[in-house]
Amino acid sequence: MAADTSADKTASGRFSAWRVFKEALGGNTGWKPWRRNPEPKPRYDVIIVGGGGHGLATAYYLAKLHGITNVAVVEKGWIGGGNAGRNTTIVRSNYLWDESAAIYEHGLKLWEGLSQDLNVNVMFSQRGVLNLAHTLHDVRESIRRVNANQLNGVDAEWLDPEGVQDFCPLIDISTKKRWPVLGATLQRRGGTARHDAVVWGYARAADRLGVDIIENAEVTSVLRGADGAFEGVETTRGTIRADKGAFVAAGHSSVLADMAGFRLPIESHPLQALVSEPLKPLLDCVVMSNQVHVYVSQSDKGELVMGAGIDAHTSYTQRGAFHIIEDQMASAIELFPMFSRLRVMRTWAGIVDVCPDASPIIGETPVPNLYINCGWGTGGFKATPSSGWTLAHTLAHGAPHALNAPFALDRFTTGALVDEHGAAAVAH
Ligand SMILES: Cc1cc2nc3c(=O)[nH]c(=O)nc-3n(C[C@H](O)[C@H](O)[C@H](O)COP(=O)(O)OP(=O)(O)OC[C@H]3O[C@@H](n4cnc5c(N)ncnc54)[C@H](O)[C@@H]3O)c2cc1C
Repeated sequence: MAADTSADKTASGRFSAWRVFKEALGGNTGWKPWRRNPEPKPRYDVIIVGGGGHGLATAYYLAKLHGITNVAVVEKGWIGGGNAGRNTTIVRSNYLWDESAAIYEHGLKLWEGLSQDLNVNVMFSQRGVLNLAHTLHDVRESIRRVNANQLNGVDAEWLDPEGVQDFCPLIDISTKKRWPVLGATLQRRGGTARHDAVVWGYARAADRLGVDIIENAEVTSVLRGADGAFEGVETTRGTIRADKGAFVAAGHSSVLADMAGFRLPIESHPLQALVSEPLKPLLDCVVMSNQVHVYVSQSDKGELVMGAGIDAHTSYTQRGAFHIIEDQMASAIELFPMFSRLRVMRTWAGIVDVCPDASPIIGETPVPNLYINCGWGTGGFKATPSSGWTLAHTLAHGAPHALNAPFALDRFTTGALVDEHGAAAVAH
């Protein structure tokens, strides 16, 4: 994208059906870049480290809802090059505990209006998410979660095996299988979204409000004043100072925390996913199984998108081991024998930041004026809107919103953990 030093914040204009028509009449020569490519300024009100979905959403809501527009998002590579562009895009809010249900449901409500809000089609498809139960324990836990969800106003249903097959005819409910399907939870409002569109949509909308998105700027150290407070960062594109800072760096959160002089209870692991060759439409919902361990949906291009459990070792390389993929394929075929002749087209990995209680950290750090948003592990895509929304509130007010207060870093010293391993649905 060409450098743009002009003050024009609306270069790409508004997108609409009328605009598509109008541009077509002009030979499609009138389209402009989606956003500027600014040089970093020496100082901002807020600097956000990490140009994934969460960092960009934070910048957008800071500008839109709190009027704080003198904001920079610094990204070491390209926006969406981290987990935001590597995940399997499952969106749902059916978590067990009240604290989690509140923040994920807030996110789901934001998803429901996101395309209109950002003026970019994020292809949010509420096709329904099934979580299969294969054992008596699964059944008990699943029904407990449905009840908890309903008490929290989160849509959740328990389906018996026939109900599962009605909803998703591809699922074999015969009792002869090693892991028979004994039922499933269903969240009809859950589904998938287009991850790149989410990143580009938030980036474009934030840019239009004046936020500087600075790519190829890796933060290499953190500046602290004599009083210990955050003052800015050194980057590969120079020093940038700011009144407040926020680390929103997913798998690299502990690296950044180390630069700032504090520790996080986070382990960074590779998490792999893969897609099959494209098929005609055959699966119109998301199917997840904790026990067999597979989660699968079909993309709009026809590929089956499947996720695995994390690689057990810690690592910062964006790739995982082959045996995880092999195990993943065995699980997929166990559940859907008809997939056995499909070819795998691509596999990849991201680095996820896993907290001991499988819940995120959003709030203050031990460094004054420095905030953090991390620990979403294997399940933060679905929370992109609410994660950004709550961190923006926290940055603007210098104090957490009720939605993210339970997810403070100090819960690991007070013991007020929010253990969501059951609902996280990915083997940790
Ligand atoms: C394979 C896979 C499947 C997943 N599936 C799902 C799913 O189905 N549903 C779901 O809800 N979640 C899923 N997740 C989790 C989800 O992707 C993450 O929780 C979420 O994307 C993390 O937030 P983010 O988008 O901001 O992170 P990222 O996109 O990783 O953003 C962090 C950014 O920080 C940048 N950064 C790091 N260090 C520095 C530095 N020193 N200086 C500057 N920038 C830096 C990185 O380059 C990166 O772009 C999955 C993850 C993976 C890997």
